[in-house]
Amino acid sequence: MPELPEVETVCNALKNRAESRIIKEFKIYNPNLRWVINRKIPDKTANQKINLIKRRGKYIVFHLDNGYLIIHLGMTGIMRLLKMNVSTVKHDHFDININDKLLLRFNDVRKFGSVHWSESMNQHFLIKNLGPEPLSEDFSSEYLKEKSKKRKITIKDLIMNQQIVVGIGNIYATESLLLSKIRPNRRCYNLTKKEYDILVKSIKRVLKKAIKAGGTSISDFKNLDGGVGYFSQKLKIYGLDECGICGEKTYNITIAGRSSYYCKKCQR
Ligand SMILES: [Zn+2]
Repeated sequence: MPELPEVETVCNALKNRAESRIIKEFKIYNPNLRWVINRKIPDKTANQKINLIKRRGKYIVFHLDNGYLIIHLGMTGIMRLLKMNVSTVKHDHFDININDKLLLRFNDVRKFGSVHWSESMNQHFLIKNLGPEPLSEDFSSEYLKEKSKKRKITIKDLIMNQQIVVGIGNIYATESLLLSKIRPNRRCYNLTKKEYDILVKSIKRVLKKAIKAGGTSISDFKNLDGGVGYFSQKLKIYGLDECGICGEKTYNITIAGRSSYYCKKCQR
């Protein structure tokens, strides 16, 4: 499932190709995504200039003259840059034609992705309750510690809660907790201020490193058929049998239904 670095990478690739272009046509093939695609989107977006493409949390937001196109990749959503007249395949949901020759095509096998149009971004139901960006100054250890008060959830659940901080999913939560030497199943209110200092720094470091990895492995749509956003990178614990720091066997527990790797030697 794409997390902040993957969405950032897709955004950067889209920026290079689609910013300042005019949407010639928005074409719906299969409206059935997590939310059914609103039939008014083609009218709302026709001939609108794409002024800016920017990530907010795990959302890709097209800033148009009259409003915003808000796209989520869900679990398996892929954006492809294609030449006009390429025939559709199974699980293609919509096209955004960005000139007479090129289009962006959204394919989503598991249909957890979505696309919405809204006149205002910050009032949209998907956006309005989102927490701060983890790479912004608003996301500090003071802020996170404050949010942990009176919550009985684990520290892993706290940092994966999009209303507290956006963009962090299972992979980057797991990696950040290893780097911070904190076990994922600790109750968030039990962590010290110092542990929050280290955790916030680790989250920022892990995300920045992953964005860099995405940027270097996929800086653009390499060829017109390729999608972007899914890149392999060097993880230290997520999905691994051995801890990437000390080499000991890893443990895997389930927290809120998600598998959570940790190292008994490195994490307390
Ligand atoms: Zn270890």
